[in-house]
Amino acid sequence: MEKMSLKKIAAGLAKPTLLNDFISYGDVAAVIETVDGNIYTGISIDTACSLGHCAEHSAVSEMLKHGEYRILTMVAVDSHGNAVPPCGRCRELISQLSAENRKTTIEVSNGVFKTLEELMPFDWKRDSDRKW
Ligand SMILES: [Zn+2]
Repeated sequence: MEKMSLKKIAAGLAKPTLLNDFISYGDVAAVIETVDGNIYTGISIDTACSLGHCAEHSAVSEMLKHGEYRILTMVAVDSHGNAVPPCGRCRELISQLSAENRKTTIEVSNGVFKTLEELMPFDWKRDSDRKW
C-alpha cells in the first residue's frame, strides 16, 4: 500500500467546526513525521479571549507524548487543503525542541518546501551556549 501523503492526512483533519459562541476548531490541521518515521497530527483551536492554539502546537504535543522531538517534515493545511506556513511561535517551538529540527522540511505553500533554518535565518539560539 502506498504511504499516504502528510498533506492528505492533514486535509482529512482540517474540518472547521463551530462548537459554540466561544470556540471553533479544526480550521487548520498539521501533520508531523518524525525522524523515526512516526506520524503525529494536530488541529487548531480558536477561542474567545485568544485561549486557543495552532495545529502545529497540538501536533508537537502529541509527538512529545510519545517521547519524540526530532521532526523530519511537517505540513499544515487550511480547510481547503492548501499548505500554510507555521507562525513565528510555532517555528520557535519546533526550533527549541532540538537543534536537529533546523533541518526539518516544511511545506510552506503548495509545492514550496523550506527548512526551518531557512525560515529562521537569524535564530537567536544559533550563537548561544546551547546544550542541545
Ligand atoms: Zn503557530
